[in-house]
Amino acid sequence: MITVFKINYILQDYGNKNTEGDDVPSDNFTLHIIPGYIENLFLAEYQHGLLLLDCGAVSDVKRIEDFCREKLHRSPSEIKLAVVTHMHPDHAGGAVLLREKFGIPLAAHKDLDRWYAGPGGFMQKVIDCVLMQTVARRTRGKLEKGLFNSRIQADHLLADGDALPFFPDWTAIVVPGHTSHDLVLYNEPESLLYVADCFLEVKGKYQTPLPVMFPHWLHASYAKMDALKASSLLIAHGEARRDNIPTDLFLSLQDLLQIPPNKLIRRIKRLSIYTPEWRRQNMLQKSEQDSCHQDIFH
Ligand SMILES: [Zn+2]
Repeated sequence: MITVFKINYILQDYGNKNTEGDDVPSDNFTLHIIPGYIENLFLAEYQHGLLLLDCGAVSDVKRIEDFCREKLHRSPSEIKLAVVTHMHPDHAGGAVLLREKFGIPLAAHKDLDRWYAGPGGFMQKVIDCVLMQTVARRTRGKLEKGLFNSRIQADHLLADGDALPFFPDWTAIVVPGHTSHDLVLYNEPESLLYVADCFLEVKGKYQTPLPVMFPHWLHASYAKMDALKASSLLIAHGEARRDNIPTDLFLSLQDLLQIPPNKLIRRIKRLSIYTPEWRRQNMLQKSEQDSCHQDIFH
């Protein structure tokens, strides 16, 4: 089932902050929610083009194409920008294929491609694809292709606070924790926040993501998201859109980070330590601890 939410975008001049230097008119957009392979996909439809918030799994490319052609009567090549919030198969899987097939430019954090780099990264990618298929088997019962090209080489690198190219009413916000390089996307005029995998919603309950690779960073990222005071949330896993957000949502997620992990969480974390970025950050932390130790004793 396709759910469509109409958003009445108030005509305002936000100035031209995009990196391409194009003059982007502010106009109305319609937000479409496309049920993806194991996640929700969000497509913002403007008159001047389409914006895809995350690229879904590699098998979602067909879903995105069909949706554009059959529901919007527009070519997928009218997607002027697709953002990859982080390097997991259900968010980055479709990216390279979308660019190859339709010439869609990709935007992501500068560290995106490091996550699956080298032999450790390849192993991590295979494990993550297997985990995605495990979820798909449980939720859909039918498996689709999972392995994907993870050399994204984004056309636009996004830093904290950057306006999205072509869509300057959206801001990229860097919120690491689930991975080293997570982004969320904030539409200030509509007070709308796409949270990607920063938390999940399971049967009406909000949960921390699987895995949490950097708990301290995620704690700070929750505070950063809380400060936005968004009135609506777009969620990749769970109910796609929430308008009644508990005022203590991010505080309670911070509390959840303190709870000792259960068996499933421990298992997924153990399966997520092969990325070179995890090892690099661990080494950095260890050397920092060692230098503190030396400072104390010298
Ligand atoms: Zn993820």
